[in-house]
Amino acid sequence: MDSCRRQFLGRTAAVVAGVAAPLALPGSALPASHADPAPDAGADTATAPRTGTVAGTSTGTGARHERFMWLAIAQARRNPEWPFGAVIVHNRTGEVLASGVNTGADSPLLHGEVVAMNDYVRRHGNQGWADTTLYTTGEPCSMCMSALAWANLRRVVWASSIDEIRSTDIIQIDLTAREVAAAARSFYTPDLLLGGVLANHTNRLFEEARRLRTPPANAPSAGPGRHWTPYRSSGIRPAGLSPVHSPPGTPPRPPRP
Ligand SMILES: [Zn+2]
Repeated sequence: MDSCRRQFLGRTAAVVAGVAAPLALPGSALPASHADPAPDAGADTATAPRTGTVAGTSTGTGARHERFMWLAIAQARRNPEWPFGAVIVHNRTGEVLASGVNTGADSPLLHGEVVAMNDYVRRHGNQGWADTTLYTTGEPCSMCMSALAWANLRRVVWASSIDEIRSTDIIQIDLTAREVAAAARSFYTPDLLLGGVLANHTNRLFEEARRLRTPPANAPSAGPGRHWTPYRSSGIRPAGLSPVHSPPGTPPRPPRP
């Protein structure tokens, strides 16, 4: 990894912490067999459609992708109004190396992918990205896809597309992950950019999130200081953090109101 990438990621990790779950993921979401054989590098990149589902998701590599996508969905459920969850998995061993959920109410930078990347750095350092795959419930936005390119994380799998997310009233920059990756082609060559894995499930998740963000009928009318907004502190706190989140000497995260 070149110094530019290291500096970028190092600075980002220092500035934004985010909240990642400990890797004790819900048992119901864990695959029966966590480890998996060699990945399917190069299976689907630039030729894949902008949206769509994965052919043959019940067997083979599709089953592997679904297994890890369920873990990303489990992360997403921690923030029902903004259900963007992500996990980073070792390509060879299938070990879940990091995880995260969107805490954008705390910082505009803390999309699920960025939180998972920060969690990865805390646990494993700024190295080894090329041996990993990131699974995320929503197609990475241009910010997150750029961060993945800077990290040289070359395998990215998502569920709902940017268009599908936008259809649930979540604003999106109109650049697909593939378009961002193509714009980074001078230094970034992805092995796998795959969308639509379990999108039927995540689309429902985003639809439900829209309902949760809808102002209630008795919401205070707009006025000075009376604007109803779904943007509030995420309130998502790490629980039972492993030492990697709280190294000796690190002051505890202050409680939020
Ligand atoms: Zn993003």
